[in-house]
Amino acid sequence: MSVYHYLLEKRSYERIIHELTAIIQNYDELEEINYQNTTDRINLISSDKKKFVEMKKTIEKRKKQCETDMCNECNHEFINDLIDIDPDTSKMVRYCEKCEYVEK
Ligand SMILES: [Zn+2]
Repeated sequence: MSVYHYLLEKRSYERIIHELTAIIQNYDELEEINYQNTTDRINLISSDKKKFVEMKKTIEKRKKQCETDMCNECNHEFINDLIDIDPDTSKMVRYCEKCEYVEK
């Protein structure tokens, strides 16, 4: 598979992770609203939330695997770039402009 293909896959995983994070935040809110509830309601909410948390972990693993595969496939072309960490601090990083792999 081409590096471009992996990049598209990575973007999709990132979007899924973003959506799952939002869903999990909604469940956090549901738990807060229902924290005094002693009925099954809070248990159901927590058990539903757990499924999304697990799914997020799984997708993060898939994304990592995708990045590893892409990195192995790529003939890296490294560039140096100054990246702002906060308004007062910046840091020099070296990364591949084809696959976004950051050299450590
Ligand atoms: Zn690369």
